[in-house]
Amino acid sequence: MTGVVAREAKKPQPPKRVPVRTCVACRTSGGKRGLLRIVRLSDGASVELDPTGKRNGRGAYVCPTDECVAMALKRKALERSLKLTKPISPETAELLHRAVQPAVAETLSEWTGGASPPPKIMPI
Ligand SMILES: [Zn+2]
Repeated sequence: MTGVVAREAKKPQPPKRVPVRTCVACRTSGGKRGLLRIVRLSDGASVELDPTGKRNGRGAYVCPTDECVAMALKRKALERSLKLTKPISPETAELLHRAVQPAVAETLSEWTGGASPPPKIMPI
């Protein structure tokens, strides 16, 4: 007697939730170069760059280009997207612009690509 009945349980697959990362300035999604993540800090007013993309907090994305950073700042897109209680300071704006300069942007896209861990700094 075969007491075992083979039954194929067909569980419906839940739809995969793919986080859509869209640049707050030009509204296009990342593409190859990836987007620069900016997180709101717990004070609700200041922001910080998040090259690893793993920080907690409300995040917004912008293309790693000067154009999109400039547009995002001009349109107050980051303030709106992150629901900041204060406008982004000129210092932070400057920092964002510096972060998307080619050399830095390349490093960032390598990091966010997950291909290799960030280079370790060797103690002297
Ligand atoms: Zn963009």
